[in-house]
Amino acid sequence: MNEYDSKRIYDVVKKIGYIKTEKPDEANCYIINTCHIREKATDKVYHDVGRVKKNFRNKKKPIVIITGCVAQAEGEILLKREKYIDAVVGPQSYHRLSEILKKIESNSTSIDSTEFEVIEKFDNLNLIKNSDSNISSFLTIQEGCDKFCKFCVVPYTRGAEFSRSIKEILNECQDLVNNGAKEITLLGQNVNAFNYGGNKLSTLISEINKLDRIRRIRYTTSHPLDFSDDLIEAHKTVEKLMPLIHLPIQSGSNKILKSMNRKHSVEDYINLVNKLKRLNPAIRFSSDFIIGYPGETDKDFNDTLKLLKEVEFINSYSFIFSPRPGTPASKMKKIDENLTKERLKIFQKSAGELKMKYRKELFNKKSSVLFENKIKGKENEFFGRDEYLNSVIVKSHNDLVGKIEVVDILDGSQNTLYGKIEKKFNNFAA
Ligand code: SF4
Repeated sequence: MNEYDSKRIYDVVKKIGYIKTEKPDEANCYIINTCHIREKATDKVYHDVGRVKKNFRNKKKPIVIITGCVAQAEGEILLKREKYIDAVVGPQSYHRLSEILKKIESNSTSIDSTEFEVIEKFDNLNLIKNSDSNISSFLTIQEGCDKFCKFCVVPYTRGAEFSRSIKEILNECQDLVNNGAKEITLLGQNVNAFNYGGNKLSTLISEINKLDRIRRIRYTTSHPLDFSDDLIEAHKTVEKLMPLIHLPIQSGSNKILKSMNRKHSVEDYINLVNKLKRLNPAIRFSSDFIIGYPGETDKDFNDTLKLLKEVEFINSYSFIFSPRPGTPASKMKKIDENLTKERLKIFQKSAGELKMKYRKELFNKKSSVLFENKIKGKENEFFGRDEYLNSVIVKSHNDLVGKIEVVDILDGSQNTLYGKIEKKFNNFAA
């Protein structure tokens, strides 16, 4: 979502004459868009600002603005602790950035803009065309979350669930199509909670499916509790909807899920996975895991490992529990750090083995790949992704950008697959 937001921020400031520079040391304005999910997010902001400060020690000070969830969570504290920062702007106030920049340009006051004005934000952003010109583009359809998992800052930094109107989303989608997008990833902190006037995510997906030039549709991130039957059904009926579902579970232990306030059990999750697989056997899953959540015993951890193997996730994103200030889990007693690290190592080893096993199954098979770009500095090498977001590289003398081709997968590592295009071209195997 930050990638999407950064692009929209640029669309806003471009309107008043700011343009991107390839030479950061010559910039006259820095907008640092931050994420609060990872550990030490706030320290990273001070570190980044410190770097700018050092680079500009003997030059005119650039304008420095902090945006994103760290701005939202820390607000005025950032301004007080680091005077080099001119403004903190929360995720609901990006539409105000040009006004804020103009104020700073004229009287260099420091500004805290962290109110929750999600409706106003999208009303204003709708007036500015999305200039993203990627083959695979992001599109925010929903923001905020009402779930209040005990470890998570999102309900505090992004506010309550809010869905944009289908009309506005389709208009923005059309802008992206006009700019060359072939794949749209619908974004939301809790994307399948999307509900605009009773129209749910499945309705929106069906509408986007009708756009001729869109070839692929994805959405992220889902919550198991919001996986309604119509969305499940869409995975059978909507041809452009990709068969990879990112469905965070966080833990394979019911005791820990309860303590996290996830509002679903392991059994609910497995039932959902099986229901989707029955309907469309091509569907595969990826997930997020928190290792070492307060109270996690060896048994809880082993239950997580068991779930990992049972679902055979093709991608697992695992993190050591790290307390986020202001969340209920931050007040819970942490478990031994060395034990947590050891568990993470064991988990990632198992997840890596599963991933490699899955990838080997792809060798000598055909994959449908949407090519996104020519690889810089490489002769005639193209980068694309298959339906499961696996990175694929092929060589071709023909321009593949924006095309979907059937690729014979020949080889690969944990991160990249290498292949050649069927018949039509005289390609190579990497
Ligand atoms: S559902 Fe996701 S975004 Fe919402 S509180 Fe839980 S972890 Fe955070």
